[in-house]
Amino acid sequence: MKNFKIAALAGDGIGPEVMREAIKILRATEKKFGFTLQITEAPVGWAGIDAAGKALPDTTLALCKQSDAILFGSVGLPDRDPTIPKEERPERAALLRIRKEFGLFANLRPVTLPKALAHACPLAKERQGDGIDILVVRELTGGMYFGQPKKTEDIGGGNQRAIDTMVYTTPEIERIAHVAFKSAQLRRKKLTSIDKANVLENGILWREVVTRVGKNYPDVTLEHMFVDNGAMQLVLRPTQFDVMLCENMFGDILSDEAAALGGSLGMLPSASLGLPRQSAATAGAGEENFFGFYEPAGGTAPDIAGKNLANPIAQILSSALMLRHSFGLNEAAAAIENAVTKAINAGNRTGDIFNPIETTAKRVGTTQMGDAIAAGI
Ligand code: NAD
Repeated sequence: MKNFKIAALAGDGIGPEVMREAIKILRATEKKFGFTLQITEAPVGWAGIDAAGKALPDTTLALCKQSDAILFGSVGLPDRDPTIPKEERPERAALLRIRKEFGLFANLRPVTLPKALAHACPLAKERQGDGIDILVVRELTGGMYFGQPKKTEDIGGGNQRAIDTMVYTTPEIERIAHVAFKSAQLRRKKLTSIDKANVLENGILWREVVTRVGKNYPDVTLEHMFVDNGAMQLVLRPTQFDVMLCENMFGDILSDEAAALGGSLGMLPSASLGLPRQSAATAGAGEENFFGFYEPAGGTAPDIAGKNLANPIAQILSSALMLRHSFGLNEAAAAIENAVTKAINAGNRTGDIFNPIETTAKRVGTTQMGDAIAAGI
């Protein structure tokens, strides 16, 4: 039987509450689909500082290195000790360190709006079709945010010049394109590659390389779209998109625009993938899965922490992404996603997605939402 090792780092605020529900759901899939999960919990964030004096304790980092994937809650509590320098605060000392340590180059942000939550979406109902279901794949380590030179310099007369440089190499584009095409194969098999090939050299190379990589995936329909049109189409006709592939900055912007369509931060999972590697469970089977870091898109929500009010769905859907992208367990991942839809369709609503106009919906807590989803596996 396949066995996978998971480092579960709940973190701060609502992290422990939503992590508890995600683990409950993972245990339910384990029983049903016949694999085993070795889940080890460890402190991170302020919980790490309290336990071991560091936002990412050495023992937590060591656990991550021995694991097949990291399931992460969120870190950071704005009101905690303002005297601690920025570099030691959880957002940098834990999150940025993990991103760097594991070479996470691909960010996956699915946005799913079930039909039953149409009221939570800012778009008119007729634009939502049968429900919105988009995956934004964003390159995470290249482009304008990291290209050199990057500086501000004096140019005389009291004026300055700021320089950022957009750089992409063929291998960087190839590896993110493979992630996007593989993801599309697991979905509706359509890929929209976003670029600005009409103005940017980067856009021309991006388009060429993505087109070339696409030849390996004849079952996926590839289209190219300029980023300005992509931004417009997301609000005009979001149902046309399956997977959107973006370079770093375009993906930063479009993934947040797409996220707004999902209704609540509490519904939005994310995955950050590193290089493919073979886990002990899949070694020899010819399968190659990504080492990954899976977390809700939102933060620690200190305003509702510890009150059984948080929506656990973002964390639960993050665990589904983990099963799919790090463990190759697509069927179990889909079972979790379907169970979430079932729980929503049955009228379960945490406060963030509750609307009194829905007379058949019932307001539930974090635990009750988790129970309803677990029952649907
Ligand atoms: P936040 O995402 O924590 O909260 C913003 C709003 O969304 C709040 O009203 C909150 O109640 C709500 N919300 C978020 N998740 C929810 C959920 N699952 N269910 C219901 N409502 C939910 O953002 P913030 O308040 O700006 O940040 C709080 C702390 O979280 C800060 O310290 C910030 O740095 C940190 N943060 C961490 C991460 C991370 O760990 N990746 C990401 C974002 C923010």
